[in-house]
Amino acid sequence: MNLIPLPAFSDNYIWMLHDGRKAVVVDPGDAQPVLQALQRDGLQLSAILVTHHHADHTGGVDTLREATGASVYGPARERIPEPLVRLGAGDHVEVLGLRFEVFDVPGHTAGHIAYYCPEMDGSPLLFCGDTLFSGGCGRLFEGTPAQMLASLDSLAALPDDTRVCCTHEYTLSNLKFARAVEPDNQALSQYTAQCEIKRAQQLPTLPSSIRLEREINPFLRSRLDSVIHAAQAFDAKAKSETSVFAALREWKNQF
Ligand SMILES: [Zn+2]
Repeated sequence: MNLIPLPAFSDNYIWMLHDGRKAVVVDPGDAQPVLQALQRDGLQLSAILVTHHHADHTGGVDTLREATGASVYGPARERIPEPLVRLGAGDHVEVLGLRFEVFDVPGHTAGHIAYYCPEMDGSPLLFCGDTLFSGGCGRLFEGTPAQMLASLDSLAALPDDTRVCCTHEYTLSNLKFARAVEPDNQALSQYTAQCEIKRAQQLPTLPSSIRLEREINPFLRSRLDSVIHAAQAFDAKAKSETSVFAALREWKNQF
């Protein structure tokens, strides 16, 4: 199976999975990069997976559905171009012979979902939309800090070798913030150097892995003393788990 991030707009990735004949895409905000890839590699689009309703994740859905007849899957509780199969926690979807479990991960939007495949070519695979980024997390447009913390906890509990397919190339700017939170984190310094080399060569920094994110992502590390102290230096009133997480998110918004 091939796993390819198709660049779109200024910093989006539309993830494509294909087996040489049939393809699936995730969050096609723009149809053109997908249509070009299908034509270039002689692929038939069989399904479109959508994580949430934002236009940079859904803008290409109608065009692709009309051009290819692909089935569309998306969150049960958000406004997505119809017709689509509506999914929520506990549902699953089978595409390209792979079984994806659906998680509810509210926070960035109220009805955001993620797609998790326990095994593809030897390791798990996660399409998490704008919930988890490498070194960061999505902005809280519709959900609460408590919801986002619970959503990130559920993703952080996935196996170490889970490939994390985020939908934006935000890694370097996220790592700049992460280093402000944890200046003494060696894994973070090493990872930053690796990502700088990749971006200098215009290569994606993704997919990441759950193991790596647990080591370097402050939003998955908000219960560690070092991260709590840094968050409290930004907001001295942050005492509870949720308020520490909220302070981190607000600090990043202003960073
Ligand atoms: Zn979004």
